Amino acid sequence: MNLIEQAKDLGFVAIGFSRPGKPIFFDRFSEWISSGRHGDMAWMERHLDIRRDPTRLLKGCRTVISLAYPYSREKPCTPEGFSAARYTEPSKADYHHRLKKLAKVLGRTIREKYPGARIRVCVDSAPILERSFAYSSGIGFIGKNNMLIVPGHGSFLFLGEILTTAPIPHDRSEPMKGPCGTCTRCIDACPTGALEAPYRLDASRCLSYLTIEKKGSIGLDTGQKMGGNFFGCDVCQEVCPFNGETGKRTTALPPIDAILAMTDGEFARTFGKTALARAGLNKIKDNVRNMMKEARQI
Ligand code: SF4
Repeated sequence: MNLIEQAKDLGFVAIGFSRPGKPIFFDRFSEWISSGRHGDMAWMERHLDIRRDPTRLLKGCRTVISLAYPYSREKPCTPEGFSAARYTEPSKADYHHRLKKLAKVLGRTIREKYPGARIRVCVDSAPILERSFAYSSGIGFIGKNNMLIVPGHGSFLFLGEILTTAPIPHDRSEPMKGPCGTCTRCIDACPTGALEAPYRLDASRCLSYLTIEKKGSIGLDTGQKMGGNFFGCDVCQEVCPFNGETGKRTTALPPIDAILAMTDGEFARTFGKTALARAGLNKIKDNVRNMMKEARQI
């Protein structure tokens, strides 16, 4: 079966191909790390040599396949209306596992066509500049909010890659440039000013970082800027015209008091296999407490 058709049948909205040279955004990434805007995400500093050269992830790699898979456009909420980022999809298993499974189906097809080809599937599981390769493959463009935007589908997308030694032929796609035009909605709407300028994010001020990755308490200051969202932040995507209507909400989380009363065991049973598990229960409770301090004096 044709790989592109099979990817669409599996639910991917875009698939693109590029060669495993130095990523086009590598120098920018390296400067960004040197500027310290990645907060205490020390893991981002590591393996710069691998990020620069994906053949270190798969020796003999000749093709990088970029994949985009949509996540729900509905915001998951508690019955009271407090919310988490859309990509958490609390009723589904963690996207890492789901996407890997789907990408491996494509991997089998590649092996059938190129016997002996080696494959490595990456879904946030290896140091690779995925947006850079997705951009180079021509499947989308980078918005001023730094997200990969696929025309017709927006940016509510998971990204994944298949690295393979198979020399898959493909038409050279030109990266898409400049569709944001004069729009600055994402920069204007960012609750913490983390989007300092077009394409320049200070992750150490970004609510997604503060509510998931940052070690220790977020504090009341941040709590006041969270707008009822206690895990992650979708604001720079919600305001983006390429995402169309984004207002739909769905009750997919337990009541807020039930979250605050959860034991570690209950959390593991309820969210252990979802993307919410990354922050852990203590972090989520701290986020909720700081978000609600003003309203409920807890
Ligand atoms: S909100 Fe506007 S500036 Fe920001 S990514 Fe979308 S189109 Fe580009």
